[in-house]
Amino acid sequence: MTYGGKSSGGKSSTAMEGDPIAGAIRSKLDSTIVAPGLHLVATPIGNLADITLRALAVLTRADVIACEDTRVTGKLKSTFGLTAPLLSYHDHNAAKAGAALIKRLKGGDIVALVSDAGTPLISDPGYRLVRSAIDADIPVFCVPGPSAAIAALVSAGLPTDRFFYAGFLPSRAGARREALAGLTGIPATLVLYESPKRLRAALADMAEIMGPRNAAIARELTKRHEEIRRGSLADLALHYNAADTPKGEIVVVIGPPGDDPTATADDVDNQLRVALQGKTVRDAADEVAAATGWARREIYQRALRLKTGGNGADSDDIEI
Ligand code: SAM
Repeated sequence: MTYGGKSSGGKSSTAMEGDPIAGAIRSKLDSTIVAPGLHLVATPIGNLADITLRALAVLTRADVIACEDTRVTGKLKSTFGLTAPLLSYHDHNAAKAGAALIKRLKGGDIVALVSDAGTPLISDPGYRLVRSAIDADIPVFCVPGPSAAIAALVSAGLPTDRFFYAGFLPSRAGARREALAGLTGIPATLVLYESPKRLRAALADMAEIMGPRNAAIARELTKRHEEIRRGSLADLALHYNAADTPKGEIVVVIGPPGDDPTATADDVDNQLRVALQGKTVRDAADEVAAATGWARREIYQRALRLKTGGNGADSDDIEI
């Protein structure tokens, strides 16, 4: 790909010459070439020092910065002395603002898309704009950087080889429980965003539906009151049930099924009851066996007994 973009081409100032780090930063900023096209620019999730040099180079040279809330991005703009105009782009004006941005992109502009914090498109607007740009043969560039999901995942102390990003759960209890039942059997660490006021109820549902899996609550990452609390879902549910409603922004990370094979018979029966609501005995048994690490044969027998209105703990000897 040829880059026909803008570079400031500036030279290090005298002040910079005495400071090798500042000089290297200036030289990186000046030598970064920014091509016309749509740039998806990640911004800090709390600590402004997490801005990347490339993000600054792109935001400095952008013809326009599309952002969710001009007041939030205005702070970034004043902190770093950015001069590009801000254009509001969010879920409610995506059609109109998106069309205006595509028009500018077709005219050869450098458009930077940012969200209030973190990586645009990750539980934030931008997907439709990227799709429209691709359909119009406009180059799309990613300027990677902070995202709360990845920051929480890597600090949780849970397996990272395979993870499933589930975004926000539905806010209503019934839909949330259904969504959790659907996530239970996924053989991966789960990463979810949750609001502080719903954390308590969500954790109680998670503990009941998913059983004794290891988890972590990452709160206020990169900020002054950063906190990562680790434990089983049941322990975390107990903790937040007894504590005041937490403040700030929260990511919930849940270890994969079978990561903690200490599920009790009650845990298994609770999970089976949920799974049996929408699944055959066989599928429910498969799901709960994967989630708990219990032997499938034992789980299948408990599921059959629960299905026929009995107690999962009865000692019927059912052949499968
Ligand atoms: N696009 C963003 C990203 O890449 O992280 C996420 C946007 S989403 C609308 C906002 C949610 O991200 C918050 O409700 C919270 O769950 C999570 N979040 C953002 N910043 C956070 C932080 N500093 N610590 C913990 N969670 C955070």
